[in-house]
Amino acid sequence: MTEEKKTPRKKIKAAGEMQRIMSEYFYELNDAAKTRNKKIAWCTSVGPAEILRSMGFLVHFPENHGAMLGATRMATDFIPAANALGYSPDICSYLTADIGSYVKGITPLSKAYPGIESVPKPDVLVYNTNQCRDVQDWFAWYGREFNIPCIGIHTHRGVGDVTEKHFESVAKQMEALIEPLEKVSGRNFDRDELKRIVTLSRECSDLWKKVLDTASNVPSPITFFDGTIHMGPAVVLRGTQQAVNYYKQLLAELEERVRNKEAAVEDERFRIYWEGMPVWGRLSAHSQLFTNLKTNVLASTYCNSWIFSAFDPDDPFRSMARAYTELFIVRADEAKEKYIKDMLEFFKVDGIIYHDAKTCPNNSNCRYGMPQRLEKETGIPSLTINGDLNDLRLVSDEQTKTNVEAFIEQLEEKK
Ligand code: SF4
Repeated sequence: MTEEKKTPRKKIKAAGEMQRIMSEYFYELNDAAKTRNKKIAWCTSVGPAEILRSMGFLVHFPENHGAMLGATRMATDFIPAANALGYSPDICSYLTADIGSYVKGITPLSKAYPGIESVPKPDVLVYNTNQCRDVQDWFAWYGREFNIPCIGIHTHRGVGDVTEKHFESVAKQMEALIEPLEKVSGRNFDRDELKRIVTLSRECSDLWKKVLDTASNVPSPITFFDGTIHMGPAVVLRGTQQAVNYYKQLLAELEERVRNKEAAVEDERFRIYWEGMPVWGRLSAHSQLFTNLKTNVLASTYCNSWIFSAFDPDDPFRSMARAYTELFIVRADEAKEKYIKDMLEFFKVDGIIYHDAKTCPNNSNCRYGMPQRLEKETGIPSLTINGDLNDLRLVSDEQTKTNVEAFIEQLEEKK
């Protein structure tokens, strides 16, 4: 996609601090992998990271690595290596890119963090199927490769109202992880330490929510594209003081922008809600496309997925079970539609873009009539773009550009 560098979106100053803490995080994992001085767990992005941290594990998130493969546009080259092992080109392209990169022995971490040669080898793999089944199959592959335990939580999916029955079952499964994790970590579970980590995670989540909510201001001080970058600490460092400190800094910067009425996108005319995965290899191109049209894609379901408002340190297992089951991706369409309607109102949205990501049906909510139902109820128009999170062979830049431009024209006429 051609990028016309006319009016770039406003840069966030806190980005330097984020890079610093992310760099510390990756080097600490790398050191532990080399010296074996700490145990390493791999965890799914909305898996029970708090339990792992409380038991002394350093935590690596393969989905974060998958997103890095996408953002660096390396993913498309590695996917065929996983296809050759029998993992279909139609399944999650985080999975296929990540396994492909492992098989090829190449990681984007090496370029971003000199001295890191590979992802940190795990001692245990822990998943939660709350987001999809792909994560279980993905981790199972590494379980066989490294001959290490692969354990997890099986969450109900397509859930309407989250009830006691749902989160009791998930809480029990979380507690059942403790014994095998004690065996791997060689230390006893400490409930007070879990409470401390859940407190930090809750604080991180509350701050992250406040950061994203600043987009409800007119003009918005932040874009969805900023969110996809700045959500890094909420994903990989939740449960740490570093993430809390970072989001305090970021929030202060955005609140100052709000006071000064500084827009992330100059002369903001249209406000868009993004439903679905980002196209990682096109973040800056998409940001530029919308900025040129004086349009701010300012809110999304995706970035909101790391808000866990139910976390309660006084009831850690049940509250974690609740938070990880109340997530949008776990829910039935009716609950999802109610959620989106609230978001449209809160963020004063003019239009919705649905990204139909070919290899992630779990995050593509436009396949069963949702756009039509929501438009009928709210009068807010939508556009569906076809593409993928990581596999750029499934992305048509020209078609996206033409469709987005026509959609903004349609919004213009409506105004
Ligand atoms: S939710 Fe989608 S992108 Fe995420 S791991 Fe599952 S299939 Fe992959």
